[in-house]
Amino acid sequence: LFATVELAPRDPILGLNEAFNADTRTDKVNLGVGVYFTDDGKLPLLRAVMAAEKARLEAQPARGYLPIEGIAAYDNAVQNLLFGADSALIQAGRVVTTQALGGTGALKLGADFLKRLSPEAVVAISDPSWENHRALFESAGFKVENYRYYDAASQSVDFAGMLASLKALPARSIVVLHACCHNPTGVDLSTEQWQQVVAACRDNGLTPFLDMAYQGFADGIDADGLAVRLFADSGLDFFVSSSFSKSFSLYGERVGALSIVTQSREESARVLSQIKRVIRTNYSNPPTHGASLVATVLNSPELRALWESELAEMRDRIKAMRQALVQKLAEHGAGRDFSFVLQQRGMFSYSGLSAEQVERLKTEHGIYAVSTGRICVAALNSRNIDRVATAIAAVLR
Ligand code: PMP
Repeated sequence: LFATVELAPRDPILGLNEAFNADTRTDKVNLGVGVYFTDDGKLPLLRAVMAAEKARLEAQPARGYLPIEGIAAYDNAVQNLLFGADSALIQAGRVVTTQALGGTGALKLGADFLKRLSPEAVVAISDPSWENHRALFESAGFKVENYRYYDAASQSVDFAGMLASLKALPARSIVVLHACCHNPTGVDLSTEQWQQVVAACRDNGLTPFLDMAYQGFADGIDADGLAVRLFADSGLDFFVSSSFSKSFSLYGERVGALSIVTQSREESARVLSQIKRVIRTNYSNPPTHGASLVATVLNSPELRALWESELAEMRDRIKAMRQALVQKLAEHGAGRDFSFVLQQRGMFSYSGLSAEQVERLKTEHGIYAVSTGRICVAALNSRNIDRVATAIAAVLR
């Protein structure tokens, strides 16, 4: 049976982790992963999450099956975060939300449903994009193309190129958009640019699929919901995948959600019935623990306020690390202007380092980054930043 099975290529990011773990240097630094660490270099356990967990433990809930679409209080809370608590769409019953296995699970649920609706559609992802986007939509059976996005020369968005790519797509193409904190570049669209993207999707009959994996990491919950809100006002049908892996530091609990905006309450009921079918035939129903914690936090005014303050702490620390990196690179004689790092948002930075320079960082300095030059700013801290800046300056010389 397995005699002709080929060895699949290693996942580039997880492969990097394995190499990092095997490295015996005590001062090694891992800037490859997409994970937020505290200034102590630890994964945070949020106080709001601990409080919700304590309450849950004390309540000793039985471990029954959840409904196929997940915890209702969770699904509603996700809608409020994305669309705003006073959203007309929610009130009109035009949003269908189902709990999902992280942001990845939400993308896959949406992809599987879309494959049934538009089997011939092309999926367009940004160039570059989160490395799993292509693989995930291809594994759902789609042909995946790139739309132009990052311009290395200006270290910003090639917006004319992006619009031209979107306009060239056939009607019903699915466009995967990073709602905020673009992974891997850290380069986001402005409000005016988002408005033009919404218009391009409408004029060309495209199906937007917004990937929201970092809500709260750029400017705050509502501000980072801008793209979702603009699409909500557009009258278009669209998809949003949410992830709470980062914003609640609940990576391994697999807490995400898929939201779909339809034209009517009646359409929503039919769409929900189909999404439930996708869930039922894949994993039957979702797990309880992580989503119940998120639901408790989001539905309690005190815990929600605490969570937002903890999220703001993470966001501010990342911004402080961006500033420190730019300043220290200058001090260590990097000989290049790195101020673009301050304009980037979220956990990542496209540093502009070449694959060769990234390789030297690893072999000569024990500093691990993705070969594209992506570094995770959220893994920098007051103890490793000098080493990182010195090493980057050294490989640039
Ligand atoms: N989309 C993007 C853009 C991401 O960066 C990530 C996480 N790295 C995901 C989706 C998946 O999130 P999760 O870990 O919740 O599946």
